[in-house]
Amino acid sequence: MTDVLAQLQSAVGGSLSIEPVMLESARSDKSGQRSVSPPLAVVTARSVEQVQAVMRIAHEHRIPVVPRGAGTGLTGGAMARGGELVLSTAGMTRVLEIDEADQVAVVEPGILNADLNRTLEPLGLRWAPDPASREISTVGGNIATNAGGLLCAKYGVTREAVLGLEVVLADGTLLRLGHRTVKGVTGLDLTALMIGSEGTLGVIVGATLKLTPLPTGAVATIAAYFSTIEQAAAASAAITAARLRPAAMELVDPQALAGILQYLGLPQRQAGSAHLLVQTDGDAAEEEGRDALAIISRLGGTASVTTDPEEGERLLAVRRAMHPAMEAQGQVLIEDIAVPRSQLVAMFAAIRRISERYGVAIPTVAHAGDGNLHPNLIYTGDEVPEVIWAAAGELFEAALALGGTLTGEHGIGTLKRRWLADELGDEQVALQRRIKAAFDPRGILNPGKVF
Ligand SMILES: Cc1cc2nc3c(=O)[nH]c(=O)nc-3n(C[C@H](O)[C@H](O)[C@H](O)COP(=O)(O)OP(=O)(O)OC[C@H]3O[C@@H](n4cnc5c(N)ncnc54)[C@H](O)[C@@H]3O)c2cc1C
Repeated sequence: MTDVLAQLQSAVGGSLSIEPVMLESARSDKSGQRSVSPPLAVVTARSVEQVQAVMRIAHEHRIPVVPRGAGTGLTGGAMARGGELVLSTAGMTRVLEIDEADQVAVVEPGILNADLNRTLEPLGLRWAPDPASREISTVGGNIATNAGGLLCAKYGVTREAVLGLEVVLADGTLLRLGHRTVKGVTGLDLTALMIGSEGTLGVIVGATLKLTPLPTGAVATIAAYFSTIEQAAAASAAITAARLRPAAMELVDPQALAGILQYLGLPQRQAGSAHLLVQTDGDAAEEEGRDALAIISRLGGTASVTTDPEEGERLLAVRRAMHPAMEAQGQVLIEDIAVPRSQLVAMFAAIRRISERYGVAIPTVAHAGDGNLHPNLIYTGDEVPEVIWAAAGELFEAALALGGTLTGEHGIGTLKRRWLADELGDEQVALQRRIKAAFDPRGILNPGKVF
């Protein structure tokens, strides 16, 4: 190993660290999990050439490499253990080009999502993916996880906002994938394959991003309350079925709402109240807001509506406080299932049943516009107890039975590996393993993740 470290030192100099504090922080991400032992070293790459050099050395010596952005992932995807090398792209933060005419930006992977968007805002442009972690997560990490967020139903997930990628393969080869045109169908779509590949196929070292104009005009925000979560979910499904296209539509179940209000120091609502937040934007914002309000009232909700931007942000802050509010309740396994939007009511009913059967608190929020639910399984102690895994397993089963999926936006990482074949089936898992082997024949890229 000292030989490997010496080679790395000579290739990347000060970008290599074996400082205990660096090694410790690479043992975990925001999933609340921690690997059994610290990794060998952390390289915080400053250039594409450094990434290539690291991969060549790792390939030669068959050293496992864990690509890492900001470490905000929720599935253990960037966690590294003994004998592994962490390759962080968080130090590659440059915006290389913004082409306003073509609405394209070329960036390095380490730039934070919100920093990129602050650069774009004065130009009236944005990169649409907006994970709640946008202030702390990198564009490279967003691409590697195909991150979603609050605005996906209308503005799409990360996959819709990436035109091309620069990727370093396991053996150090640099590939340029995709295109910078709006259309482009030459050969297999390897850009799409890389998006959401969770560091298992290559290291993303550059991205050509599709930008969109910032919406102009009024933004209408509706804060509605219902006496049950099923009623609130039915209203969100009715808004979707009515072909309205809110920019954001978020559900907060009674347990989650009570926890968030307590965390924010706000007055509690009547016991059992569920919250539906709807935000419309663009030219039709006010008309769509009125139509959504009519549906909410017809289905038993009480609602207030505002077009004042500050008041709208204040209302949205309740939903945005979900992560810290849940963490304040204990250890949290944050789940991430998605179901067809018409099945939201059935999924909330299943969560209630599972919570009661296992005696586990499962406060849940949902990006209702795209049917993506985040049940938060609360527990105590350092390890996730078996009862929590059993309850999570039933949640996945219920989501799959409703035509849904194991993960809407967080990915598989280490936490959901055991359920992968339940959704994909053995033949597809075997095919995906063969694809992984074509990219990474020595199996050194993020081993033990996803597959
Ligand atoms: C408070 C909070 C809110 C969140 N909200 C959302 C949300 O709304 N929507 C959502 O989708 N997620 C959300 N997340 C999860 C997380 O922020 C996203 O998954 C994010 O995209 C991860 O980015 P990162 O830079 O932190 O990546 P990391 O956590 O460092 O890595 C995530 C995965 O990507 C791989 N990876 C990272 N960089 C590269 C690279 N350059 N090349 C190849 N592979 C790479 C890693 O190996 C790992 O598998 C939230 C997390 C927190 C803590």
